[in-house]
Amino acid sequence: MSAPASNYRERSLAIHGLICAKCAREFDASNRHLLTVHHKDGNDANNPPDGSNWENLCVYCHEAEHSRGRLGDYSTGRRKG
Ligand SMILES: [Zn+2]
Ligand SMILES: [Zn+2]
Repeated sequence: MSAPASNYRERSLAIHGLICAKCAREFDASNRHLLTVHHKDGNDANNPPDGSNWENLCVYCHEAEHSRGRLGDYSTGRRKG
C-alpha cells in the first residue's frame, strides 16, 4: 500500500459504522462525506487497525470538538487530528 494513512477514514467508517459518535446522527451513501474521523488522542499518525483511536464525528461535532482547544483545520486535508 503506497499511502495507508489515507485509508483510515474508510476503515473507521467500516468499523464504527455511518453514525456520529456524539450526536448519533446516521449517515448513508448520499451524505457520508459529512462524516469525518476524529483521532481521540489528537495524533493523526496513530492509526491502530482495530480503530481504537478513531471516532466517527459529523462535521459539526468534529468542529465543536476541536474548537474547544485549537482550531481544527481537518477540512483542508492538511491535518486530520
Ligand atoms: Zn454529530
Ligand atoms: Zn478531530
